[in-house]
Amino acid sequence: MALTPEILIPRLGDVLVEQGLLTTEDLDQALDYQRQLRTTGQAPLIGQILVDMGKIDRTTMDQAITVQIIRLQRALQESNEMLEKRVEERTAALQRAYEKLAELSKLKENFISNISHELRTPLTHLKGYLDLMLANDFGPITLEQKKALDVMNRATDRLGRLIDDLILFSTSESGNIRLQVQPFDLIPQVNAIIHRNALAAKHKNINLWLSAEEGSTKVVGDPERINWVINQLVDNAIKYTNKQGEVCIKLIPDATECTIKIAIIDTGIGIEESKIDEIFEPFHQLDGSSTRTQGGTGLGLALVKKIVEAHNSKIEVSSTPNQGSRFEFRLKTGEKDQSAHHA
Ligand code: ADP
Repeated sequence: MALTPEILIPRLGDVLVEQGLLTTEDLDQALDYQRQLRTTGQAPLIGQILVDMGKIDRTTMDQAITVQIIRLQRALQESNEMLEKRVEERTAALQRAYEKLAELSKLKENFISNISHELRTPLTHLKGYLDLMLANDFGPITLEQKKALDVMNRATDRLGRLIDDLILFSTSESGNIRLQVQPFDLIPQVNAIIHRNALAAKHKNINLWLSAEEGSTKVVGDPERINWVINQLVDNAIKYTNKQGEVCIKLIPDATECTIKIAIIDTGIGIEESKIDEIFEPFHQLDGSSTRTQGGTGLGLALVKKIVEAHNSKIEVSSTPNQGSRFEFRLKTGEKDQSAHHA
């Protein structure tokens, strides 16, 4: 549609005819004349032509034009009001949609906490009875039965971890990783992680050790989540390192940056450079075949990344196939952080 005033109000000539101030014939004549003038490159207004041709006097024309201007103003005002009303309606619709989304998101969160509870409860029962049976509380068990119960026990542990990972992943997806940030010492944490993974390392004859320089190893972060991250990286390092290899957790302080770098270094199978970004995608495993040698959900590194980023840090990887990998991230020691908070 052409953008001319008549999309809001009728043309001046038509109004004059309508008001009986001009005949249709006179208007047609004037319009013909206007067309002729246009062919010569001029663009005269119809009002002026009507006055020049003596079809109408100047005062009447001025009045008619003034009425037109007033009508135009009113039309603009009405259209503004209409627009405002439509904006209001749309805003209300958006608000309703937002409320619905917030409600859905709440439902989703509740769903996750409900389902986690529902999944955990039977698992706790399974675990409880398995422990009782293993402790001979229901009578003596044979070696074969003990082996079977041990397998079931490990499977329930794995299922428990899987549920925890899924819950953490779902909450992190909605940007809801809640951190309980506080100062804590890395050394006892790392020692506990080494202790926890000692058996798995021993099974593969892997040397698992901590390397820390003299000085404070205190950082600021969520100790539980950081523990989870380091444990996950150590678990992977052991998983993807062949027998007789080495896995080292290195703490490297950076006094100028007021950070401590935590590096988990292995002498394992390594990762091709082009695949490094992929490993952080959820449910992604480089060996996706059904003959995969290592178990896992493919959620570990996706979560590691989210937790490290929630600490305003970054996970970095360097790796050479068949030589090993190095996963590292920094945590603040707190000194600089506090001044930043108060600034
Ligand atoms: P999962 O270990 O459960 O498969 P992750 O998210 O922890 O899932 O890891 C994703 C993929 O990254 C793994 O399947 C593996 O292919 C690769 N990967 C992770 N850590 C290492 C490592 N230390 N050395 C070699 N490959 C690794």
